[in-house]
Amino acid sequence: MMSRFKIASEALGLDEEVYNVLKSPAKQVTVSLPITMDDGSIRVFEGHRVIHSTILGPSKGGVRFDPGVNINEVKALAAWMTWKCAVVDIPYGGAKGGVCCNPREMSSGERERLTRAYTQSMIEIFGPDRDIPAPDMGTGPREMAWMMDAYSRTQGMTVNSVVTGKPLVLGGSLGRTEATGRGVMVTALAAMGKLKINPYNATGAVQGFGNVGSYAALLLEERGMKIISVSDISGAYYNENGIDINKAILYREGNNGSLEGFDGAERIEGSELLTLEVDVLIPAAMEDVITIKNVADIKAKLIVEGANGPTSAKADKIINEKGIIVVPDILANAGGVTVSYFEWVQNRLGYKWTAERVNRRSDRIMKDAFEKVYKTSIEYDVPMRIAAYIVAIDKVAKTYKYRGGY
Ligand code: GLU
Repeated sequence: MMSRFKIASEALGLDEEVYNVLKSPAKQVTVSLPITMDDGSIRVFEGHRVIHSTILGPSKGGVRFDPGVNINEVKALAAWMTWKCAVVDIPYGGAKGGVCCNPREMSSGERERLTRAYTQSMIEIFGPDRDIPAPDMGTGPREMAWMMDAYSRTQGMTVNSVVTGKPLVLGGSLGRTEATGRGVMVTALAAMGKLKINPYNATGAVQGFGNVGSYAALLLEERGMKIISVSDISGAYYNENGIDINKAILYREGNNGSLEGFDGAERIEGSELLTLEVDVLIPAAMEDVITIKNVADIKAKLIVEGANGPTSAKADKIINEKGIIVVPDILANAGGVTVSYFEWVQNRLGYKWTAERVNRRSDRIMKDAFEKVYKTSIEYDVPMRIAAYIVAIDKVAKTYKYRGGY
């Protein structure tokens, strides 16, 4: 995050003072969460919430439950949220939270107690006008419902705008579940338009078959693209004639959330997916999967980053030398936080939008953001990634200058 921030700040000619303000998080909180496990033992989990910036508005960002969570990762992800919200021009600052745990090995009761304890510890941090959490890796609508309830109990009233990504009945927004994948589809099509790639003649590979990857694959398939490979934690699957994505999603649903044993494709090594001969590669799983180790073998013409930080900073240079176009994470996956913003707006209005309205408005925001970043990349003669940072940093820096410091 820092190396890209530095390059973009230099290209933009950012003042050193403002650079210093934006380079470190505004606040970081680490808590220790003792949880009674189902067997009666007490385990202590470490949780974090990092607020990178509130210059543009209340801070926004997901909460991750994952064994790899640590304060440095949360800090980088929090800053990414600031840039992401600024790129799509929504009135939020950036934050991120996380608990170091393995949700796959925990019962629903254990996850509930952990989620409630985490929310309780962050009661001074969270708030609809302060800091608004959302789902991320290892969390979803179920956890958001517990968070909303835990927070509301302390306020003596229902406050559904304190968290987004909630189940529909609790004030969740139509279109939120598929929003990140939909934004990946919209920005992928916009980039394909620039590269004159016709989706009907194009192939794609999608790493990660969770909320982001599966919807990105499905929506691109619906628009004519042949998705020849998908993968999840169980491995990668390949079919040169195109995988039936609907079938894969239905299979996953009936198979405990995993593609293990899926017979609509042949099994290949997980790492092979990234280096397949495809037009569009969509890493939609986790950080640092495209690195100097495998970047030389990547054959895609276009990479659309559904995940946060899937490409290591060192790999950027080789990607640019190879002429591969990257729609960077802070643009490509911003559809999720955009519809989170719509959810928050609807909650505050006490009103519900139709799915059609949500999709139309989020598609417009994603297309406009893409065009702005694309234009900036031409104007400054930089890759789209640096251009996205330039757009974001410029907005935050200008706002900071008007607001001023102490
Ligand atoms: N966790 C998602 C992200 O990284 C969504 C954040 C949100 O909706 O606030 O963009």
